[in-house]
Amino acid sequence: MAEMRLDEYFENVIAAAGTILGSKKPSVAPPEPPSVKTVLWDRSLYDVIPYDLERDLKWLETLKFGQIVFDGHCPHCGKDTTFRSMTDQNIEVVAGLKARPVSQTWAKKQATALTLDKHQFARHLVCQRNGHLLSYVFIQGPWAVVKIGQYPSIEDLAAGQLERYRKTLEPAYFKELHRANGLFAHGVGIGAFVYLRRIFERLIEKHRTRIDPDHRLFANFDGIRMEDKIALLKEELPETVVKNRVAYSILSKGLHSLSEDECRTYFPAVRAAIVLMLEQDYEAEQKRIADKAAEDEIAALNAKLGGRTGGNESETPKESEG
Ligand SMILES: [Zn+2]
Repeated sequence: MAEMRLDEYFENVIAAAGTILGSKKPSVAPPEPPSVKTVLWDRSLYDVIPYDLERDLKWLETLKFGQIVFDGHCPHCGKDTTFRSMTDQNIEVVAGLKARPVSQTWAKKQATALTLDKHQFARHLVCQRNGHLLSYVFIQGPWAVVKIGQYPSIEDLAAGQLERYRKTLEPAYFKELHRANGLFAHGVGIGAFVYLRRIFERLIEKHRTRIDPDHRLFANFDGIRMEDKIALLKEELPETVVKNRVAYSILSKGLHSLSEDECRTYFPAVRAAIVLMLEQDYEAEQKRIADKAAEDEIAALNAKLGGRTGGNESETPKESEG
């Protein structure tokens, strides 16, 4: 076998990637690309994101070089935080937060650790709470970009956020939620979507049972489309889910008619709806626990006071009140 030089090899890889990303200009204008945050936070690896160089130049510049700021759950902090793209200024912030002022090169090293070939670029975002890093690598073709790497993974980013719902969802469904994220993180569309759909349906069913325990209120509930189910349960479900119910009509489509691309595109929106429903249930449960605790405290106090009243003051005449 003829020996191949490494740089030649990479030249070929890049050329092949260029073909995948469309060396030929598409005949129709691509849809507008999703927001930069969506690309970083919600789009799975290897998802081809087409752009129109003239129309989307500003978007592309922001993605590659611009200031990026968004809020999200930091898996290292275990809390919501603001992520900000790394600039010379916050490189110093990172160094400061890491309490290693003498080695300010730490972040600079991180930022330049990957020597990227042409057509590739990396972005690093910094958790403003504790200086944790989110790193992304992209490959750019003439008409599309693809995210080819990120750390922490989408799976890890989502897992941190979902942890608080461990008790809100039955264990089997909680496991499936993780499985859905894992598949999505690796670019699997339909497989990930199937799990998400089961969880969505489960949550809808739970709320339906709550207001219609005997299944007599809504005739033919199981046979109607998801958006109509949501409309029927509008008093029970988060407002945003009800308002955007048409977007979830994809959940009524037959599995055979779904494409990988379609599933990957809809995944973040459907997952966001699931999180909203879980959050609402979680808050209701927390309120129930707090109410119960308050009631128990009052009952305990009453028992104590009642005990004292019963023991010492049961014979006290009414006049002594004033
Ligand atoms: Zn953090």
